[in-house]
Amino acid sequence: MKITPEMITIFPNLKIRQNAPLRDFTTFRLGGPCPLLIEGATAAQLPDVVQQLNQAKHPFLVIGQGANLVISDHGIEQAIFRFCSETPDIKADENRVTVSGDTLLDDLALFTVENETGDLSYCSGIPGTVGGGIAGNAGAFGRQMGDHLISVELLGLDGNVRAVPHDELEFAYRHSKLKETGEIVLSTTFELPKADRSIMQAERDRIMEFRKEHHPDWHNEPCAGSVFRNIEPTSAVERRKAAGYFLEEAGVRSFKVGGAKIYEKHANIIVADKGCTAQDVWELSEQMAAAVKEKFGIDLVREVRFLGKFN
Ligand SMILES: Cc1cc2nc3c(=O)[nH]c(=O)nc-3n(C[C@H](O)[C@H](O)[C@H](O)COP(=O)(O)OP(=O)(O)OC[C@H]3O[C@@H](n4cnc5c(N)ncnc54)[C@H](O)[C@@H]3O)c2cc1C
Repeated sequence: MKITPEMITIFPNLKIRQNAPLRDFTTFRLGGPCPLLIEGATAAQLPDVVQQLNQAKHPFLVIGQGANLVISDHGIEQAIFRFCSETPDIKADENRVTVSGDTLLDDLALFTVENETGDLSYCSGIPGTVGGGIAGNAGAFGRQMGDHLISVELLGLDGNVRAVPHDELEFAYRHSKLKETGEIVLSTTFELPKADRSIMQAERDRIMEFRKEHHPDWHNEPCAGSVFRNIEPTSAVERRKAAGYFLEEAGVRSFKVGGAKIYEKHANIIVADKGCTAQDVWELSEQMAAAVKEKFGIDLVREVRFLGKFN
């Protein structure tokens, strides 16, 4: 059935667009349209919106800030909920923090430092929303979002909401069950380790400086962070190894496809120059993986999620 905005007219505050260009909603600034883009729904409204889409028998997908996505140049077939807000929705009771899934991760990190509600400083500067971060178990410096999460309020594909404890989410390195189920994080509660405000602030400052020095600013150099996951240990004594090291050694620095090129300070990040297409990024990532396979015999696994058709 062809979906139209009239099918989802239940809340006047929703912004609904047909054939919306998804390039405007990802940090890579690439990709074609989706049939319907729904923005502005609150966590309380989303269940009704999902039920409307189900009645229209239309597939859908939630996105946050689009900081981990490459959308095909041909677009995608699903309707998209953009669940991303610049107004943080956070409540704290000592070191227990409950936050809406559409809150930006860095806003949450800043809140926890300023209100001394426990240490989440490692999330400083990670682009994206809390919901996207939980789905992919985002993290940095050896810590990840699943570490101190107690529970989430999940919206199922059937439109029903349920509370789900930590263990049901099956967190692993850059992974949770939500990547497979497509269920939506409406909100979540963390219990954070106590830390002194001045120590957390110093750590946040250090991390923000490190990111400025080593990572592209996606506002000026569109990208989606690390293309490949780091390499899992093959025995209990080994540590996870940086994919960037193997890419560097495999000589990918000078690789370029169309407008897609390797970021000058990090061999595991692709940035988009003028005229870059999503297909360019796909092909460059194929070449990077092939170079590592040839030199080291290692199969890299993509961390960035490619959506839609690629050749
Ligand atoms: C410059 C740069 C630096 C980065 N550094 C890091 C880093 O240090 N560590 C790191 O882990 N990542 C990093 N990333 C990647 C990115 O920030 C994370 O993957 C982030 O968690 C993506 O969140 P998002 O809201 O943008 O999700 P999106 O990219 O919009 O979506 C990603 C996935 O999450 C799902 N999703 C989104 N919202 C929800 C929700 N509410 N409920 C359920 N599922 C949802 C989507 O369906 C999709 O499958 C970086 C990216 C950039 C551009």
